[in-house]
Amino acid sequence: MATKLLLTFAICRLIVTVGLTLEPTELLRLGLTVDPVDVESASVDFGLMTKVEPLAVLHPSSAEDVAQLVKAAYESSHGFTVSARGHGHSINGQAQTGTGVVVQMSGVGSGGKPRVWGGDMYVDVWGGELWIDVLKSCLEYGLAPKSWTDYLYLSVGGTLSNAGISGQAFHHGPQISNVHELGVVTGKGELMTCSKEQNPELFHAVLGGLGQFGIITRARISLEPAPQRVRWIRVLYSNFSAFTKDQEYLISLHGNQKFDYVEGFVIVDEGLINNWRSSFFSPRNPVKISSLGSNNNGGVLYCLEITKNYHESTAETIDQEIEALLKKLNFIPTSVFTTDLPYVDFLDRVHKAELKLRSKGMWEVPHPWLNLFVPKSKIADFDRGVFKGILGNKTSGPILIYPMNKNKWDDKSSVVTPDEDVFYLVAFLRSALDNGEETQSLAYLTNQNRQILKFCDEDGIKVKQYLPHYKTQSEWKEHYGSKWDRFQRMKMKFDPRHILASGQNIFTPTFLSSSKMASW
Ligand code: FAD
Repeated sequence: MATKLLLTFAICRLIVTVGLTLEPTELLRLGLTVDPVDVESASVDFGLMTKVEPLAVLHPSSAEDVAQLVKAAYESSHGFTVSARGHGHSINGQAQTGTGVVVQMSGVGSGGKPRVWGGDMYVDVWGGELWIDVLKSCLEYGLAPKSWTDYLYLSVGGTLSNAGISGQAFHHGPQISNVHELGVVTGKGELMTCSKEQNPELFHAVLGGLGQFGIITRARISLEPAPQRVRWIRVLYSNFSAFTKDQEYLISLHGNQKFDYVEGFVIVDEGLINNWRSSFFSPRNPVKISSLGSNNNGGVLYCLEITKNYHESTAETIDQEIEALLKKLNFIPTSVFTTDLPYVDFLDRVHKAELKLRSKGMWEVPHPWLNLFVPKSKIADFDRGVFKGILGNKTSGPILIYPMNKNKWDDKSSVVTPDEDVFYLVAFLRSALDNGEETQSLAYLTNQNRQILKFCDEDGIKVKQYLPHYKTQSEWKEHYGSKWDRFQRMKMKFDPRHILASGQNIFTPTFLSSSKMASW
């Protein structure tokens, strides 16, 4: 009782502060809370580099709850911000806000269970649903989404606000290319349905829109029959151009005679070959970089990672199919590592690594991650300057590299990618550790990220950041390039008070730039 009274008092204070038009009882019914535990958890993210406390947190149980809160923010006399938070796996505070409410989209009791439409091959899911739960629901029908991220404890709304990429993207496109329809609450508090046919401007703006135009409350995701098993293969290269030539060849294949997943990573550090992403290599049979010819190559090796999905009924032909594909590649002949596992275990592979890191206290540490899309024509320059230059031979986390086909990305979406038919994702997924080793410190890794961006700029490598992070609007303008005018127009149309996802730092909420804000 006393807690409820305190909560009501805190909410009354909040109402006065932000000029809310809703009654305290109505706010409590919507799921608004100022409980310190909720506030604390919404004030940090996976990056652990920014801490910003919201005024309150909303736990919605329906799209209507979200719409009511956003409408109240839009109509409030003082104004306040609303930031959707999926699973808080951003790096730089993108889902945080210090001037309003965080809507905690993932969590028990929100939105309802995924609804699978087997005949139409799609699933309707709540925007805060985690991909692991989407997968589990679909598998009950023998179905699965087509395009993935490497890690499944991310929310549907969070990845669709960025793109959602993994080794299937070369063939199926990113996750945003595999969505039929969305339910969205705009910055005016309107709940709208959108698709390529219905409200197409909103649909395209929201996909890859960094949460700027609306909160995704529902997504209709395309499905395929779920494979049963996966043959997972890793091969090594000491020659970068042979590595990229093979990756580019593999993503140019169509039909059945191709791999289903194409990724890769860079090994600059002997310790890393057996690290959390590569736990695949048997600990009883550790791989020695030096034994594989990396000495002639500045100490750098490249690992191509490929999979072929199959059904138990076609198991007899899988070996021949893989053999035929591998024959066309130029990897180090003695470096083939193969494993075979259920489809779910393959998709959920990073979670196993997470559990291991958590047990060693190495998961909840700062993550100064940098993700870049690099044009194919400049990837060799990038290798020379970054993998064989700036990185040195020490790094504290995986460095992914894999190419994608631009024709699988819808240019109408809000995401920006390099202006070439093929571009690479290069992801520096490093953890900062406070263990006295300078090369693993946050300051060192952050500085190295800066050096990488500077090198690209000076060398004319026109990279685009994925999961972008900028501090000024002029940097954002440059990031969006020719898409900026449309981005800005869509913002005016769907979130005219700039109240949504202010943690991205793209637009200043209008109430903050007006004199009214003196009272904040
Ligand atoms: P949050 O971090 O909570 O939110 C991200 C942004 O989206 C914020 O601006 C937020 O306001 C907005 N947002 C959240 N929910 C909604 C919604 N429902 N509607 C509108 N806007 C919303 N990405 C890949 O593409 N491929 C990968 O393989 C991949 N692997 C990863 C592995 C790990 C271990 C981690 C930590 C991240 C990985 N990511 C990957 C990045 C991931 O896609 C982003 O962190 C993304 O933001 C999803 O995280 P989230 O659901 O926690 O969203």
